[in-house]
Amino acid sequence: MLGRDALKRAVASELDAARACDGVAAYEHLALGVIDRLDRDAAASLVAVINATGVLLHTNLGRAPLAEAACAHACDIGRGYSNLEYDLTLGERGSRYDRVTGLLREITGAQDALVVNNCAAAMLLILDTFAKGREVVVARNQLIEIGGGFRVPEVLERSGAILVEVGTTNKVNERDFERALTTDTALLLRTHQSNFAIEGFTADAAPPALSALARRAGIPLVEDLGSGAVVDLAEYGLPHERTVQDALRDGVDVVAFSGDKLLGGPQAGIIVGNSALTARLRANPLLRALRVDKMTLALLAATLRLYHDRRSREQIPFFAMLAMPMESLRERARRYAAQVGNARIVDAQAFVGGGSLPRAHVPSVAIAFETPYPDQLMERLRRGRPPIVARIENGEVRLDLRTIAPKQDAAVIEAVLGIAG
Ligand SMILES: *Cc1c(COP(=O)(O)O)cnc(C)c1O
Repeated sequence: MLGRDALKRAVASELDAARACDGVAAYEHLALGVIDRLDRDAAASLVAVINATGVLLHTNLGRAPLAEAACAHACDIGRGYSNLEYDLTLGERGSRYDRVTGLLREITGAQDALVVNNCAAAMLLILDTFAKGREVVVARNQLIEIGGGFRVPEVLERSGAILVEVGTTNKVNERDFERALTTDTALLLRTHQSNFAIEGFTADAAPPALSALARRAGIPLVEDLGSGAVVDLAEYGLPHERTVQDALRDGVDVVAFSGDKLLGGPQAGIIVGNSALTARLRANPLLRALRVDKMTLALLAATLRLYHDRRSREQIPFFAMLAMPMESLRERARRYAAQVGNARIVDAQAFVGGGSLPRAHVPSVAIAFETPYPDQLMERLRRGRPPIVARIENGEVRLDLRTIAPKQDAAVIEAVLGIAG
């Protein structure tokens, strides 16, 4: 698995290091040094890890895990040729977007859809197409930064649009937008607050009223929805999260959202909405630079097909994790506790994460380890096989079972036994 060359390089480096400091190293010491080097090499490559943090869509851990069916389909498509841009009925060139477009139209009810690299790319394409050198009106309570360098004012600036801020940090209304309209206004923009909440003396411009205003002004209303739920998360005991369908129903002309947040699919930026406007997006040469490959399209199409009904949707790991009953978590926890000594079962709170529903939590169950050195235990878990990313709470190290897939339990227990046992 390691490869002869990697092993040889590690041994040679370790021997060089030993020669450099002239003491004679013990054989065991040298061997441990080689293992350590190989471990560091392995950690430097992309590896699968166990997410025991309880954050379902963990931005640092690859966001949404993919459904088995989606992975299998993408492998099938990836290892050979496919009709990616070929129409099998007509025997001529076809469009790579047709299949996902159909699925997205069916699920969201939108007239048309388009897929690019990620939601940031979607916003870039939208602004470049409709607002270059022109004004974009945004409420001050939506001038967000979502991390990773995505700040709404900067994205606007990079795409050559001119930002017009309206309202205040806590209160914005339709009249603020109306007063900001000029002959140079290209569009009205709404963005999802994603990772923070404003509470107290607050007001927002209602999307249907903004839609009516945009219509009167003859400009589009665009919404960067970010998280992109297409089902009501209230089904899973979470607060209702504005869905793509809600936005379309409110009269938003173009909606952009991520493929790998609440949708549970691959990294992608999905644009749905009015067909005259999406046609203009399609005609923008920038689309060629932002387009997705066959693997993304295969993963996305197979994920979207699972939205057929609730049972198949719960094959998507994000929904499987949300749907896992507390009783199953407790039963798994008892199995952990029976095998791993000095571990306690505690009630915990898991979080949706992924820059959505910042305050919403999901009840969960965790295995807690009391230790005077929690950071050290965290490190040993991270360096284990498989690497486990846990969290520290109340000074204890906790493994949240909601984000650990049941089929990973045996491997996690074995790894923990080797470390904390
Ligand atoms: C997450 C998010 C984005 C960025 O999405 P990517 O798919 O990571 O590019 C953009 N806007 C909002 C509001 C978001 O929440």
